[in-house]
Amino acid sequence: MNDSSGQRPVRYVVSACLAGVHSRYNGDRKAVEAVVALIRQGVALPVCPEQLGGLPTPRPPCEIVPGAPGCPARVVNRLGVDQSAEFHLGAREGVRLAELFGATRAVLKAGSPSCGSGQIYDGTFSGRRVPGDGVFAAALKAAGIDVLTEDDLPRELGESPQ
Ligand code: SF4
Repeated sequence: MNDSSGQRPVRYVVSACLAGVHSRYNGDRKAVEAVVALIRQGVALPVCPEQLGGLPTPRPPCEIVPGAPGCPARVVNRLGVDQSAEFHLGAREGVRLAELFGATRAVLKAGSPSCGSGQIYDGTFSGRRVPGDGVFAAALKAAGIDVLTEDDLPRELGESPQ
C-alpha cells in the first residue's frame, strides 16, 4: 500500500508482540504473519510501549481504571500498584519512534491497556470490555497516526481474512 502521494509505501508502527517478540505481560507473544511480513519489507517498526516505559517482562497484568473525563488515563496492575507513569512514558517514547520512522499508520494489539483501539478492559480484571483506547493508541491518534488492530489488517492489505 502506498501513501497519499502514491510515491512511497505506507509506513507502520506495530505492536512488538504482533511481530513475535515475547513482550506480553505473561512473557508470551501473539505473532501475526502479515505483521512480520511488513517488518521484513522494511515498512513496519515494532514497538512495545510498556517495555519502553520501563516495565519488566513478565509483569502483572494492568488495566485502565475509569476516571474523570479529560483526565490522563490511570493504569493499575492486578496487585493495585499504579503504573500510570510507566504507561504514559512508554506511550510518549513510542510516538517519538513512530514519528522518527515516518509511520502514518499503526497496527496494534486489540484489547491491551496500551495498544487497544476502540475497546479495552474495564478496569475490574473481570474480562469485560468497554469502549476506549489504550494509552499508546490514544497518544498515536493524538499525533495524527491512524490506528488499526490486527483484526483490521487483512482489509488494510486487501487480503481475505485468514
Ligand atoms: Fe504487545 Fe502493546 Fe502489550 Fe507491548 S504493550 S506486549 S506491544 S500489546
